[in-house]
Amino acid sequence: MKKILIFSLLIILSLAIAGYFSLSNQFVQNFLLKSLFESRMQALFAESESVNSDELEIFFCGSGSPLSMMPEGAQCMAFVIGSDIYVIDNGENSFAKISNNYPPQNIKAVFITHAHSDHIGDLDELNLRRWVSGAETPLKVYGSSEIINVTEGINLAYQNDENYRVDHHGVEFVPPENRPMIPIVHKPTNSPQLIFEDENLKVESFLVDHHPVKEALGFRLFFGNKKIIISGDTEITDNVFSLVNGADILIHDGMIKDHVKLLEKVAKENNVYRAEVAFHDILDYHADVIDIKRNLENKDLGLLIINHLVPAKNPIGIRYMEDLFSNVSYDFLLARDNDKIIVYKNSDEIIIN
Ligand SMILES: [Zn+2]
Ligand SMILES: [Zn+2]
Repeated sequence: MKKILIFSLLIILSLAIAGYFSLSNQFVQNFLLKSLFESRMQALFAESESVNSDELEIFFCGSGSPLSMMPEGAQCMAFVIGSDIYVIDNGENSFAKISNNYPPQNIKAVFITHAHSDHIGDLDELNLRRWVSGAETPLKVYGSSEIINVTEGINLAYQNDENYRVDHHGVEFVPPENRPMIPIVHKPTNSPQLIFEDENLKVESFLVDHHPVKEALGFRLFFGNKKIIISGDTEITDNVFSLVNGADILIHDGMIKDHVKLLEKVAKENNVYRAEVAFHDILDYHADVIDIKRNLENKDLGLLIINHLVPAKNPIGIRYMEDLFSNVSYDFLLARDNDKIIVYKNSDEIIIN
């Protein structure tokens, strides 16, 4: 028995060594590369064979904290219905998470809550890669007057790149008219107003309280009769909580203010002036998670997702959140990058992956 075991181990070891050295063989390299490329191309460029428009997948392409040193994406959510993708915010480090999971040319529209960098930092690459991947229309970007500078600035910054690619590949392969983004601007109001509607989704916007940002937006999405509220960045505001009753999902930004105050104190004690000022100043434009919980008492809500947690996620903050929301009447999730939430048009079930 012992001899058989040793013999088997030797065979496995020999195969592993042979496999390792065969990776230097050009024939083996070409075979493996071809398989790798084929599976990746099929995933990214083939039309979806089983489009199911009765299912909405909410993909967290960015769940991070602003100006974070963590590898998380900043704010980004992709709403995927069949082969159509709708993106809300696209902060730094988030686009690659979209393109690793979905074909960027299928991005149908982008909605921007406001123009802080953690909500727009990857929009330039999103637009370029969508165009180069074969999008057949220019990207429409929806938002308040905040997005005019953003879209015009990025459109100009990438003009040289467009010229190079058009000269190189030709106008049929990369039609120049599809490259610049088109801003679709509206004047936001306290009550929800319809800003977008197609066969999949209805999107309403409303003002939130993110002073000194004057026109920061929250969104309410309708997928069939399912309602999803997105706070954007805001202090506690009635514009959000007056909509929560009967909603299926609330995605709210969150701050653990006790922890931010502690960070401010530590910065002061250690004479890190810039950190002290920053931690002090951000206290008044995000919602304390304790206040979020209080405002949800007696509300009929399916699932609360806290996204954009400040301070950045750490084991103590995660434990704090788990304890705080351990005894609530709705389901709770602290969002992490690559989380996928499935909502069904014809069922109240919500799946969290
Ligand atoms: Zn912000
Ligand atoms: Zn933010």
